[in-house]
Amino acid sequence: MSEETPLNAYEQLIACFTVEEMDLIVRLKRFFEWVQGDQEFAAAAGSGSFSQEQRARLQQIGVTFDLRELDLLWENSDFQLNFLRACGCQDAMPAELLEKIAQRPLLALWTRYVAQKNKVYRHFRSTVFRVPKNPRFDAWRMRRVAAAKSELGHFGHVIDHPILAFELGDGCSVGCWFCAFAARKLTTNFDYLENREFFQDVVKACADVFGRDQAAMALLYYGTEPHDNPHYLDFLKDFAKITGHASCTSTAVPGDAEWVRSLIAFYRQGNLPWPRFSVLTKKMLLKIHELYTPDELRDVELLIQTREHPRQKVTGGRILAEQNGMRDRESGHYMDQIVPQGSIACVSGFLINMVHKTIQLVSPCYTSKKWAYGYRIYDTAAFTDALDFHRAIEELIERNMPLTPRPDSVVRFRDDLCFKPTEQGFDLISPNQVHHFAGKEVVAPLGAMIAEGNQRVDQMYSTMTDTLRINPMLTGMAVKQLFDGGFLDEVRAV
Ligand code: SF4
Repeated sequence: MSEETPLNAYEQLIACFTVEEMDLIVRLKRFFEWVQGDQEFAAAAGSGSFSQEQRARLQQIGVTFDLRELDLLWENSDFQLNFLRACGCQDAMPAELLEKIAQRPLLALWTRYVAQKNKVYRHFRSTVFRVPKNPRFDAWRMRRVAAAKSELGHFGHVIDHPILAFELGDGCSVGCWFCAFAARKLTTNFDYLENREFFQDVVKACADVFGRDQAAMALLYYGTEPHDNPHYLDFLKDFAKITGHASCTSTAVPGDAEWVRSLIAFYRQGNLPWPRFSVLTKKMLLKIHELYTPDELRDVELLIQTREHPRQKVTGGRILAEQNGMRDRESGHYMDQIVPQGSIACVSGFLINMVHKTIQLVSPCYTSKKWAYGYRIYDTAAFTDALDFHRAIEELIERNMPLTPRPDSVVRFRDDLCFKPTEQGFDLISPNQVHHFAGKEVVAPLGAMIAEGNQRVDQMYSTMTDTLRINPMLTGMAVKQLFDGGFLDEVRAV
C-alpha cells in the first residue's frame, strides 16, 4: 500500500494497537469466544475454577496469558455479566467498574479494543452505506430504511441495507434447524466456468444502474451458503474487480480449513474484517479453535448460533411463530417487555437468483405469517441474459419507485402497523415503536381514511378537498410525510 492511501476503518482499528497488544487481543478474543459458546466454560470463567482439562486446552489453543489477570471476572457474580454487557461502551460503565478494570491491564486492553471496535464499526457502517446514483431507487431505499427502523427497533438501526444479493445456487446444504429463510436443500450450483462472462456482465449492469461503488453494497449469498459453490471465491474476486470493493462473506462451514484460509488471505489483502463464521454447535467452536491460530482469526467474527446460546433465534422460516411485539400491548405498557429481533434479512433492493434468473424486490420487515422469511417482496421479474437483466432492473425501478404516491394506487398503511385514533390525530404502532401524528383538521381524517385502506390516492384527495374542504396543499404535505417516512404500503398488488 502506498503511503498516501488512507487507512480504511478497520485498518484504523488495528493501527490503534501495537503488535504486542494485538497479540494479546487475539488471545483474549478466543477466551471470550469460548465463554460465549460453551456454558460449562462460561460457568468456570464466572467462578474462576477452571478444570485441569480446560487449562490445558486454553494453552493448546493459544490462550497463554496468566488467567489470574482476569480474576475480576469471578470476583463477584455480577462482574462478568456487567463487564460483558458494558464492554465497548465505557461511557455506560459505572466509575467503580472502570476503576477496577484500570487496575487489570488485560481487561483494560480488551475494554479499549471493544470500545474502539464499536466506534470504528459505526463509522464503517456509515461509509458502506453509500447513496445509489439512481434517485428513484435511492428514495425508495430510504423509505425502506425508515420502515426497518420503525419495525425492527435496534436491529433496524444496525443493518447496512445492501442493495443486491446474488444467490449462486438453488438451496443450501447446511440445513440449520433455525434457518429463518427456510432454505431448501441444495440442488444446483451456478456454474462458474460456463457462466463467468454472464455473471460479470450482470455485475457490470448493476454498476451501470447504481454506480460502481454503490453496486458493491452486495452479498454473493442469501438463502444460500457460500461454501456450497466450489467457485465462490472466483465469483467474489470477479465481483471485486468490477466494483472495486470486496463484499462480505458469512459462512456456516468454517471447518474447511483450506477454503477458509483462502478467504482469510483474500480479505487480509484489503484489510477487511471478514469472513464471519456462524458457529452452530459447541463442537464446531472447539474445532475452529483447534484448526486456526488466534492470529489467523484476528479479523474473523464468530457469531455463536448454538441451541444453548441465550440470544433468541428469529422465529421465521423453519421455526415460524408469529410474534406481535408492541402491537398487542395496552397503551402505556408498550415498553413492558423486550421485543424479539424480528428478522435476519438485510437487503433493501434486489435478490437475484442466478440459477433461476429471477429477481425479487425485497426489504427487511418484522417476520409474520405473511412475510415468513423476514422480508417483504414488493415485485418480481425474470431475465434471460445480461442485457435482459439490465432491462428487468430498470423496469422494476420504474414500476415500483415513484417519488410520490401514484394517483391511481390504493393508499393504506404498512401491513405491520396498527392504527389507533387519538384525541389529537392518531398513533401507528409497529412491532417495535409507537409513532404519534397530531393535527385534528388534516391529519386525523387523513389517517382514518388511509386506515380504511380502500381508497385510491386521487379519490382520497377529492374527499379531503371537496367534502372536508381541506387545502389540497396541506393534504399533499401530510401524504408525502407519511410516504417518505416509509409508513405507506408499497407492495405491488398482483
Ligand atoms: S441459516 Fe444459512 S447456512 Fe443455515 S440453512 Fe439457512 S441459509 Fe443455510
